Amino acid sequence: MTRLILATRNAGKITELRSILADAGLPHELVGADAYPDVPDVKETGVTFAENALLKAHALARATGLPAVADDSGLCVDVLGGAPGIFSARWAGRHGDDKANLDLLLAQLSDIAEEHRGASFACAAALALPDGTERVVEGRLDGTLRHAPAGTNGFGYDPILQPEGETRTCAELTPAEKNAISHRGKAFRALVPVVRELLG
Ligand code: IMP
Repeated sequence: MTRLILATRNAGKITELRSILADAGLPHELVGADAYPDVPDVKETGVTFAENALLKAHALARATGLPAVADDSGLCVDVLGGAPGIFSARWAGRHGDDKANLDLLLAQLSDIAEEHRGASFACAAALALPDGTERVVEGRLDGTLRHAPAGTNGFGYDPILQPEGETRTCAELTPAEKNAISHRGKAFRALVPVVRELLG
């Protein structure tokens, strides 16, 4: 069985991709980067989600000798020309401060009317082989931004993004409901034919 490694320490992402591969009938064993603790962290120096996903996947494939998957994602706000984008995790200055990031974004958009509050979550998922072969696919979840947070599920900007056709925010969806429509779910599902093509 081919072993595939996912560039994350987030157990939720591993479970999600593992079940997508299994549902597609792919026999590959998916492990998280935790299984290889000596692999160094990669600087995300790319300027697009796809570049950063590829950087992470190549670094992990080189370090482990295994086919590697990596994803990179963020929130893209129409009226901000696609920002925060690749800066989503550190929009307010400190990496991973979800509340500060969300509060800053809401303040920036406070005068923006409903019809101009379009935004989407975007995700690029890359597969790299140790020989340098690479593929990258993308997924998006379109919606609008609320004026105030609602819901306690999820993370990041989930409490303010209301997906198209929904009355709830992403943070009011169950994890299964969110995975079914999310940018990451779509990108991971788009990886299935790629894994089949490159790894059989
Ligand atoms: P990462 O690429 O998964 O590390 O995500 C980068 C940042 O984008 C996160 O820190 C969040 O701020 C934002 N983000 C990405 N995906 C989501 C999501 O599904 N919900 C909410 N925020 C997200």
